[in-house]
Amino acid sequence: MEAVAVGVRRGPSSYLARLRLDRATVETRFGLRFETVDDDLGPAALALIRLAGGDLIGFGRLQYDAEPGVEVVHYTARPPREVVAELLAESGLTHQDLSWMSGGLPGAEFEPVARSVTEAVLYLTGDPDGEVQVTTDRTEVRRGERTVLVDPASDGLLDAAQWQEHSRRCARLAAELLRVFGERRPTAAEHERARHLLECAVDCAAEVTRLVPAGTGQVPVRHLWTADGLRALRQRAADFGVPRIDRELARRRLDLAEFVAVFGPPPVDRTAPMEPPLARSGSDASMFLDFQECRCGGKLLSFGERSLPVGDHEVLTVKARCTRRVWHRFRFRFTVRPGTLGTAHWQMSLRGEPSHLVDPGQWLVMATVYSAGDEQAHAMNMKLAASSVEEAMLFVPPGADVVPEEEIRSRHGQEMLAAGPDLFRWPRLLAARDDYLAASGPEDPGPELHPLPARGVTEALMFMDLHRCECGTAEFHRQAPERGGDPARLTLRYHGVCLACRHERAFVFTVPRDDPDPDPLGYGLSMPGDGPSALLDAGQLWMIGEMNAERANQLEHAATGDWDDDSWEAMLAALATSVAVYDELLALLPPGAGAMPDGEFRTPAGRSRLRHLPESFTRDHLSAERARRRHRLDEFLAGVPEPD
Ligand SMILES: [Zn+2]
Ligand SMILES: [Zn+2]
Ligand SMILES: [Zn+2]
Repeated sequence: MEAVAVGVRRGPSSYLARLRLDRATVETRFGLRFETVDDDLGPAALALIRLAGGDLIGFGRLQYDAEPGVEVVHYTARPPREVVAELLAESGLTHQDLSWMSGGLPGAEFEPVARSVTEAVLYLTGDPDGEVQVTTDRTEVRRGERTVLVDPASDGLLDAAQWQEHSRRCARLAAELLRVFGERRPTAAEHERARHLLECAVDCAAEVTRLVPAGTGQVPVRHLWTADGLRALRQRAADFGVPRIDRELARRRLDLAEFVAVFGPPPVDRTAPMEPPLARSGSDASMFLDFQECRCGGKLLSFGERSLPVGDHEVLTVKARCTRRVWHRFRFRFTVRPGTLGTAHWQMSLRGEPSHLVDPGQWLVMATVYSAGDEQAHAMNMKLAASSVEEAMLFVPPGADVVPEEEIRSRHGQEMLAAGPDLFRWPRLLAARDDYLAASGPEDPGPELHPLPARGVTEALMFMDLHRCECGTAEFHRQAPERGGDPARLTLRYHGVCLACRHERAFVFTVPRDDPDPDPLGYGLSMPGDGPSALLDAGQLWMIGEMNAERANQLEHAATGDWDDDSWEAMLAALATSVAVYDELLALLPPGAGAMPDGEFRTPAGRSRLRHLPESFTRDHLSAERARRRHRLDEFLAGVPEPD
């Protein structure tokens, strides 16, 4: 802001605010001189400044005004709160320096209008589940004496910093619940609460994105109009730049997706036993048959099935024969709800209620059978094993931490229970699921999670290397990326067909505009000051480090001391990346922490890694490992000159 002579053309003025400071303080603090002018209300003193954005502001003092303080007027038609936000940010003042503001101080508006009921509830209570009264037409929200109108076309009440804080708070509360859910199964109400918090964290993070004007790279000062906003702007301005806003939103979306993947839909009451028994899905029925034996001891093989409507459901009839004596014939009948036979083949059911046909012990037997299956279909088998464990998890009553013994009725199940009662405990089931999924490998994220904000092209490439097609293959015929985007971010769309199953795979990433093309040597996942990755958790970073260390070993072995241009560069990239990964891991440690916090392990692979090798994530280990890898890189550079 700069001082402007009072003689300048000003146009009509309107009141903006009143400062608690007196005239002399305003003069000395801002280097201004009040000049006498004739106001409509009598003689007055006035000083003018111009804000960085060009708006003219007047500080005035009527001669006969008995109240202390200085009036602030503006000569624009802009919303007062936006002009005040810029004035405070530029002048170093705070909301505490204001005794009055046109429309009311933020948080105490005279006629508050919210964009949504959610915003009104957050505004009034600070809690997405806060207690309020909402009118039936949802245009008014009340709490005690205060009323907030709801109008989707309004500018809203919460600023970017408040949305960001609400998002973080919801995410923190959800994380606390998830720690509890690691020990026991959530009840339906807890499940709903956690999901609601995670959704709220996503929605609030999306509201921050809305406050970035199209074509710009950050939240402008005018959208940080509250006291919280001004404080946040002064303390952590980088949080309001597009790269961090995008990554925070992506992280919330991934957290929600992971919750749904682990815990499925909320637990529902079990339906009463039916005749014929309920098959929740086609897999449910076929798994039942797998555990049946003929009286002669032969296995059963189904050779025909049909489903006919009976009332509001269907009856599925499956014909089977004995594999030992083909004339031993069977006919099984199941009750089926319409539309449930066709669940995806890797899904055993929709995970509402537990199976009526297969007991938890049998599901765990199936998990071990799948996991010992054909190496060719390793990824899919591991995924089926994880789905089988998820079925056993459904037998743990909501709020409890173990499958009740009376649920385990089959011979297989009884044997398993006798051998290891711990296998039926909730934390063990969660761990088994993670382990199978970690062995299966991370699958491509669903389209709803794209675009994925990477900190740079290198991180995007690594993310793709780490993920696999649903068939289990990681490599695909990757075309050169299609580029797009806006002034704030570059969009890269990679696509191509899977080398194994010809399925089309596609990834859409955003990277910062100023990110260079990947360095030809491909190392470094981020630039200093970028902050943590939204896409890779600590366990995945660790995996990338291992992949690169392994790659370096292979290159060294293949080169046998004879390096050419390509192998030398590939070696440098592998060694440097394996160092960079440890820089990333060390940066995730909070100051003073001796080990990686649990919250940094957000994927099955990450959680599984932490469970099996907790010592690899201590500060001491990470530092030593970084030093070791750095030493290997230095030795390579010193010992092997770059080929000409
Ligand atoms: Zn038989
Ligand atoms: Zn294309
Ligand atoms: Zn494939």
